[in-house]
Formats: sequence, structure tokens, C-alpha cells
Amino acid sequence: MAQMRTALGVPISYKVSHKQHNGLIQWIVEVWEGFITTLVGMKITFSHFFVKRHTVQYPHEGIPIAARSRQRIFVDIDLCGGCLQCNRICPVGIIDILAVKPVAGVDLGTRPNGKRRPLHMANFTIDHSKCLYCGLCTTVCNDDAIYMITDYHYTTTNKDSLFVNYSKYTPEERDKVVADAAAEKAAKAAAPKPAPAAPKPAVVAEPKPEPPKEEPFSEKCPGPDEGDQ
Ligand code: SF4
Ligand code: SF4
Repeated sequence: MAQMRTALGVPISYKVSHKQHNGLIQWIVEVWEGFITTLVGMKITFSHFFVKRHTVQYPHEGIPIAARSRQRIFVDIDLCGGCLQCNRICPVGIIDILAVKPVAGVDLGTRPNGKRRPLHMANFTIDHSKCLYCGLCTTVCNDDAIYMITDYHYTTTNKDSLFVNYSKYTPEERDKVVADAAAEKAAKAAAPKPAPAAPKPAVVAEPKPEPPKEEPFSEKCPGPDEGDQ
């Protein structure tokens, strides 16, 4: 006796004959058992037409993703202030940032959150193929510029496509801001340094007049003779 359960949990069983017959009888028994066991298998298959599906036809169909699930890191470079906190905390070191200070007189404006844009975000790359989805980088960002999105459809056969640069600077623009910053730094270093300020003359304290000395008390008590006169 063999026992199985359908998808609905209904136990099903069937008898398998172990009795040996001769010739044509044995052949008929085996064909019959093959037919019956096929029907049992198809009974399980057909029962799935009446139960809820647990699979989807990916990639043509998807399943709802929880809003706070960890699927993929994304950087809103317009919000980024270039503080490097995410770069420092990433345990696998896959966030590479090149933030360049603008030269004097250049104002980079404000970010969408109203804060001043302090640096050129000349480079901001993440190698997604090495990401652990730990989310640490999202917890340290004070500007909410790096966060997880629910997009998990980034399967690829080209590993290089997972290396993403979120910077909006072209290679030429990046090279220019780097060169400008380096030139300004060199110019500052070459500029003659202002002469050191002359030492302040020492302040000589004027001698304070000594307070007048008080005369010691010298009045004599009148003696007994003096008192009688
Ligand atoms: S989720 Fe973790 S591993 Fe991935 S980039 Fe952020 S800190 Fe690095
Ligand atoms: S922590 Fe946020 S603001 Fe700082 S560099 Fe990373 S993404 Fe930009």
C-alpha cells in the first residue's frame, strides 16, 4: 500500500500487487497498475487547478515588494552633499566618491532640500555586484541621498553593467574641476606669505604709589599721678 497526499491535503492510496502471475496475466496486471498510478499522479496535478498559486511567471509577472525591503541601493546625486559617510561605513568598500571643492567665486547653488551645495560630485560609483544589501550606507546619510529601492529586476549577463556611476559630470567636466582645484591650491601655496606681525611692545606697568603708612597708636594711658593733676 503506497500513500500520498494531494495539494489539498487529501490522502490518496493505491495497492500495488506484488503477486507474480504467468505470461499474459502478469502483463495485463502491470499495464493496469501503470494506468492506475498515472491516474493517481494526474489527480494530484489536476488538484492544483483549484488551489491558490504560489508561483508567478517571472519575469513577465512580479510579486508585490514591501516598501522597506532591501533590493537595490540608489543614489539621488542632487541631494548628496559629499560628506563621505557612506563611503567610510561600507564594509566592502564599493562606494567610490570624488567630491571636489569649487574654486573661489564659484557658487554651486542649493540642493532640492534647500541646503547649500558645497562640492562638485565629480564621481560617485557603486559596484552593485559586490553589495551586501546591509543598508549601513543608508543609515548614515544625513541628506537621505542614498537609499534602497524596490527594483530587483537587474539580472544581467554583463557584470560591468552593475558598476554604476551616479555622478552627472562627464569625464571632461570631472577632469576640469579637478584641474581647477589643483591649480588654485598650487597658486595658494606659491603665493608669498604675509610677513609675520611685529611683536607687540612689552607693557611696562607703572609703579603704583605706596599707600601712606599709618602711624602706630602711641597715645598713652594717663598714669595714676598724671590723673590727679
Ligand atoms: S548596502 Fe552595505 S554593502 Fe551595499 S553599498 Fe551600502 S554599505 Fe555597502
Ligand atoms: S552619506 Fe549621503 S550625503 Fe554623504 S556622501 Fe553618501 S550619499 Fe552623499
